Amino acid sequence: MDAISFMPLQNPQRNSPSMKPRLSIVLPIFNESKNLEPTLREVTSVLEGLQNPYEIIVVDDGSSDGSWGKIEKLTQTYQGIKAIRFTRNFGKEAAILAGLQSSSGDAAIIMDADLQHPPALISEMVKIWEDEGVDVVHAVKSERENEPLMRRFFTKCFYKAMKRFSGLELEGTTDFKLLDRTVVDQYVRLPERIRFFRGIITWLGHRHAHVSFKPGIRRNGKSRWSILSLFRLGFRALFAFSALPLQIITLLGIITFLASIFLGIETVIKKFTGGAAEGFPTVIILLLFIGSTLMISLGLIGQYIAMIYDEVKQRPPFVIEKTIE
Ligand code: UDP
Ligand code: MG
Repeated sequence: MDAISFMPLQNPQRNSPSMKPRLSIVLPIFNESKNLEPTLREVTSVLEGLQNPYEIIVVDDGSSDGSWGKIEKLTQTYQGIKAIRFTRNFGKEAAILAGLQSSSGDAAIIMDADLQHPPALISEMVKIWEDEGVDVVHAVKSERENEPLMRRFFTKCFYKAMKRFSGLELEGTTDFKLLDRTVVDQYVRLPERIRFFRGIITWLGHRHAHVSFKPGIRRNGKSRWSILSLFRLGFRALFAFSALPLQIITLLGIITFLASIFLGIETVIKKFTGGAAEGFPTVIILLLFIGSTLMISLGLIGQYIAMIYDEVKQRPPFVIEKTIE
């Protein structure tokens, strides 16, 4: 990756008095056949109100509920829809990347297609982008009341860990964001395959603004995230942004080494003073402690190796089956 890629990129269209900037809306879709039409209707009505030229990019992340058939029909009724279909479910991160890669607007807005991200917020985000000259507008959840208690708890822990380990403040952020063309270009040019959209956008820096919103209730169907898949995402995100877990292993190693010197001296003294037979419980506790620490450490290192392995294989993050322009 050459350094030139990360030179400031120009976006002459923005704030040009002659023409309204063009907007790209990116909608990742996985089994949203029931939510698609209502989402498109609301999004288009907001965009028509704004009078900016626009495109809506629908990325079908391998849906199996007939979403693609719906999309094909909707492209005939609605203006400005581009659609991409993956060969299978590659995950939301891949869908966002594909949408951004094929976008050409001066700003891209990424949002969920289940109406949990209110389309009405688009106008506010565009206004902030134009008036305040920021490059990223984050839509931040003002509350998480609609989410299950367990999910809220683990999300909070994840944000805390993320802040401590990588310094990135992600509390409340969502994938609902407006990105200036410069940021979109930099995002798609990043060489990494394992992506955590929210983290990378914050990591890229730039001028940011926030708008808060109250997330709606999912219109149809269920959230695709189980606690297990959220854990997976959380760990991958954490490991992608921090090597601190590896340093913690070293620290643990030093602590156990110091403890072993102390216990070693005690054992030798006991041997010579005739009390060596005692201390069997200590041996068991030590064995268990060291054994489990070693296994956890190996697991952590293994996780990093697995991620490096995924990166070096250089497989594309998604495979496209077909597109509609
Ligand atoms: N999504 C996707 N691929 C997936 C899972 C989800 O494109 O593998 C899309 C989904 O269709 C929706 C958005 O990502 O538009 C958010 O998904 P969901 O509502 O399940 O997540 P939550 O709102 O619970 O975070
Ligand atoms: Mg949702």
